[in-house]
Amino acid sequence: MSAALAERLGALGLPLLPEPLAAPIADSHTHLDTVAEMAGLTPEESLEAATRVGVARIVQVGCDVAGSRFAEELARRHDGVVAAVAIHPNDAARLAADSPAALTEAIAEIDRLAGAGPHVRAVGETGIDLYRTRDDQGRRVQREAFAAHIAIAKAHGLTLAIHDRDGHDDVLDVLDAEGWPDRVIMHCFSGGAELARRCLDHGAWLSFAGVVTFNSAGPQREALALAPHERILVETDAPFLTPAPRRGKLNGPYLVAHTARFVADRLGLDEMTCCRMLDVNASAAYGGGWSAGGEGR
Ligand SMILES: [Zn+2]
Ligand SMILES: [Zn+2]
Repeated sequence: MSAALAERLGALGLPLLPEPLAAPIADSHTHLDTVAEMAGLTPEESLEAATRVGVARIVQVGCDVAGSRFAEELARRHDGVVAAVAIHPNDAARLAADSPAALTEAIAEIDRLAGAGPHVRAVGETGIDLYRTRDDQGRRVQREAFAAHIAIAKAHGLTLAIHDRDGHDDVLDVLDAEGWPDRVIMHCFSGGAELARRCLDHGAWLSFAGVVTFNSAGPQREALALAPHERILVETDAPFLTPAPRRGKLNGPYLVAHTARFVADRLGLDEMTCCRMLDVNASAAYGGGWSAGGEGR
């Protein structure tokens, strides 16, 4: 690792770089803008750190209009980055509580960004969050906003990246009512075997964050064990959910290497085979032609 980068990570109290992976992979869901805000590492530094350990691709995810614009711009500037754009369910509930018209306008801007070019690959993160949004009105708004995002994903032929926190029933209900898009990713998969089966029946990908490395993650580990290998993704959701053995510190895409190694171990795969599998899966989940294996995009 370059001395400068190592020094920066150390100065910011961030974990040092893990050993480089045996083959390049993607971080299937991350927030470099929030990493910069919370950890002080610039997006360029995050990308450099990721590249050093073989995390050659990242999906930069927007949660509001400003974040979605940032994701679109970052992906336009960097070959190794694609963008996901959306209004996060908690942001949707908050916006509508201030002004329903503001939410309508925000969703119209997401629709515009979704059509910005091939560097925008997904509509997300959208879905249901009943952990932070607990009132009936907020829940109704989230369901409507989720339906609107599903329509945008379909209209642009993009992947749908779903945030589901304590919202399994609503997520499935809205998807069943609106119809599942061709490509659906359950980001930071938080369910167990039953939810996994329901999603896999529709051909969805299950994206595992650092949570799967925690000892408390029995249900997620069950889901990992039963998922067909081609449906498995790994992500950081940085700056949160830092995988073991770095849990407790802030997260960055370079640390998805720990999650990838954990998955390889659980599936009984050697690291090279697992990385190649994860890389091919990320490319397929985000619309193809996007892989460190040299396909370009
Ligand atoms: Zn999320
Ligand atoms: Zn996220």
